[in-house]
Amino acid sequence: MFRDVSFHRDRISVFTDAQRRLSEGEITEKEFKGISGGFGSYNERGGRTGMIRLRMCGGHMDRDKLDFIIDVAERYSIPLIHTTTCETVQLHRLTPEQIATVMTEALDHGINTQGGGGDHPRNVSATSLSGVDPGEYFDVYPYAKATEAMLLDIMTEFRLPRKLKVTFSSSPSNETHATFRDMGFVARPDGLFDVWIAGGLGKGPSMGFRVAEAVEPSHVLYHVRAMMEVFSENGDFGNRGHARTRHMKEDLGEARLSELYNGRVAELESRGGLDLHSEPVAFPEKAYMEVSGERIRPQKQKGLYYVTYRPVAGEVELEVLKRIRDAIRDMEGVELRISPDSAIHVVNLSGEEALLVESVTGGGAATPFEASVSCIGGTVCTTGVRDSNGLLKRMISAVRDSGIPADALPRFRISGCPSSCGAHQVGVVGLQGGVRTVDGVPVPVFNMTVNGCGLQGTERFGFPVGAIPEDRVPDMVVFLGRTVADSGMGFDEWFTLNRDRMTEVLADHLV
Ligand code: SF4
Repeated sequence: MFRDVSFHRDRISVFTDAQRRLSEGEITEKEFKGISGGFGSYNERGGRTGMIRLRMCGGHMDRDKLDFIIDVAERYSIPLIHTTTCETVQLHRLTPEQIATVMTEALDHGINTQGGGGDHPRNVSATSLSGVDPGEYFDVYPYAKATEAMLLDIMTEFRLPRKLKVTFSSSPSNETHATFRDMGFVARPDGLFDVWIAGGLGKGPSMGFRVAEAVEPSHVLYHVRAMMEVFSENGDFGNRGHARTRHMKEDLGEARLSELYNGRVAELESRGGLDLHSEPVAFPEKAYMEVSGERIRPQKQKGLYYVTYRPVAGEVELEVLKRIRDAIRDMEGVELRISPDSAIHVVNLSGEEALLVESVTGGGAATPFEASVSCIGGTVCTTGVRDSNGLLKRMISAVRDSGIPADALPRFRISGCPSSCGAHQVGVVGLQGGVRTVDGVPVPVFNMTVNGCGLQGTERFGFPVGAIPEDRVPDMVVFLGRTVADSGMGFDEWFTLNRDRMTEVLADHLV
């Protein structure tokens, strides 16, 4: 129905030409960024290296893609592999030549990088355990996959004012934040979708609104195409700071935007040609063996399990990837799934296989707190204001040294700047890098919010507590953990009683 991603190969010369023009001083860094982002690559802080973002629709990574990532990581001695909150894999600290080569070679493995940044439809995400989660309504991945294929095919036809994030959610856990993205397909118990649009995090975050109800899954592509057209025709091209879909909602109002959107869907449906006839995904059948383990969970398919590995701060250890590759080499139907909280699930394992995979994936986050989410942060990202990733590592180290019990602290969500790649607004505790002027002196801080929630039906952004100087954050976290532990309660119970007085509790740590 749509072209294979390999047609993007011809466009790579645009990227390499921009690299040449930058190195010869014909274009500025800013102009280069405007081009390179469209190829999923950005220069990193320091200017000599860059990153490349590998699209992984729905977080799915099969063995061939895993082999490719390991191969390039070894060949180019890539020191940093990061799993992102948009279910992609970022390779960091590459030379310009390596970036262009990886971009080209990736296409041979069905991995596209184009549209991974810039004003394009981004990686289409989906609930990472879709298809295997016992609590889901239905498997949304086939629709995410078809959407990704269509968007990659048509993206060069459209000029969008800014990026467009499309996501699919298979259960109310709302792992992909479908109710507050640019466009979210939310599965219902009756096998249909509700569609939410015009939400987003970043500066001026906004919840989405339900623009269509009870949509037949076979009609998903009409909706996606309609959204592309409406955004392209009504978004604000004159002001990048006011160009996301949530701003289109502010400018037009929900009622008018809904009218435009649903009118366009109806037009496209009357023309036809985008009906989906997805085949259900087949899962392997394996002999039943009951097993349990700290990181082993049963799938909805009897006899199958998944194992979760949570890389600390989203930094994936190459050695762990290699051990996974070796362990699953001869296992039928096994694949990896990257989740929006930067975890990696290995799915479709028999009981015996699950025990083996669990044994080779140790060394990741050991508590909910250690599984805190952070973006790559300002030591790498040129947009970043603070080093969110380094901060999380310092927080974990301080907490490990303090001996605080595992249930005394929650999972934090940390962003290095207001762009909100760590989705701090929906963290029980969120931290966002910034600067606060104190007595006329700029102080590097993290702004803290609490009581955010991403669950469908109780979505809310956290409320502000105050700003904490960056170098005091690890102490604040230890103080918070000790305070909770001394109360004899776990964090959840303690927080229920104390959430409205967090500014008071943490007063000595705030500026
Ligand atoms: S939140 Fe800011 S620092 Fe973090 S990855 Fe996004 S743009 Fe970079």
